[in-house]
Amino acid sequence: MPDARARGLTGEAAVVGVIGWPVAHSLSPLMHNRAFAHLDMNWVYVPFAVRPENLEAAVAGLRALSVRGFNVTIPHKTAIIPFLDQLTPAAAAIGAVNTVINRDGWLVGDNTDGLGFLRSLREEAEFDPAGSRTVILGAGGAARAVAVSLADAGASRVVIANRTVARAQELADVIESRGAHAAALALDSPELEEELAAADLLVQTTPAGMSGEADAVLPVPESWLRPPLIVCDIVYTPPETPLLAAARRRGLRVVPGWGMLLYQGAAAFERWTGRPPPVAVMRDALLEALDAGR
Ligand code: NAP
Repeated sequence: MPDARARGLTGEAAVVGVIGWPVAHSLSPLMHNRAFAHLDMNWVYVPFAVRPENLEAAVAGLRALSVRGFNVTIPHKTAIIPFLDQLTPAAAAIGAVNTVINRDGWLVGDNTDGLGFLRSLREEAEFDPAGSRTVILGAGGAARAVAVSLADAGASRVVIANRTVARAQELADVIESRGAHAAALALDSPELEEELAAADLLVQTTPAGMSGEADAVLPVPESWLRPPLIVCDIVYTPPETPLLAAARRRGLRVVPGWGMLLYQGAAAFERWTGRPPPVAVMRDALLEALDAGR
């Protein structure tokens, strides 16, 4: 399969990329460049390492360089907002941007994380959030995208359990304002077991279980994982987190975190290029890279 190194990009090549700090771990260049090569497109996706103090200059530079768009990752997803010209309703609701589209010098900040998350539920577990009850562990940026997308898709109840309860309450208030019932709990609250017993879906969004995390233990006791709960862990390194392994042992359906990454990328691809993304090709690139890093 030809990749960015082998392809003969011409002077007309369109440039997209990702800004983050650090950015070297990003799998998005592999995923998008494989897609461009597959479709024989004169496009290239480049990682840009942008220190937090250089964010404004980097955005001005990307605009000046006429890049067609770029992804935004940690720690810039919220900090970038003042430097953009417009936000989509999704980005405004989530309060963070993961995809910027350059419309002739006018930078539109979008957020495809929530869309990507919902699509991963649909594709990997045939899960429809309408009328559902979900428990989310964590209340950071990713949890916000997850919670808002669930509420907007008609979820009836979203419970947010977080180490810092005030942050969970803030997110619960946002969810209530979008028409779903919401509650905030501490991660170690005794009520969590009861909420899980009544839930259709558990979504894990803290770094617990990430490769390299010293305290990579289960965020909830394994015995709390009971059918018909569906378990999604948005952490994707390793692709099979301790929580997903435990859920599988308990016979539950699971949604791995690479799904959200894949489908947010597919949505960004479509926004930049106007073409349907070759999802199977992007998925292979992603899974190969994740398998190699196991
Ligand atoms: P974030 O904004 O920094 O939020 C981190 C969340 O995790 C907060 O709720 C934080 O709680 C909690 N947390 C951190 N360390 C903890 C610990 N030791 N014990 C318990 N809770 C802890 O980060 P984020 O952007 O939401 O990202 C979170 C994770 O999601 C990362 O692992 C990231 O790689 C992953 N992610 C995946 C995708 C995907 O496409 N699959 C997309 C985005 C993010 P406090 O509020 O108490 O600090």
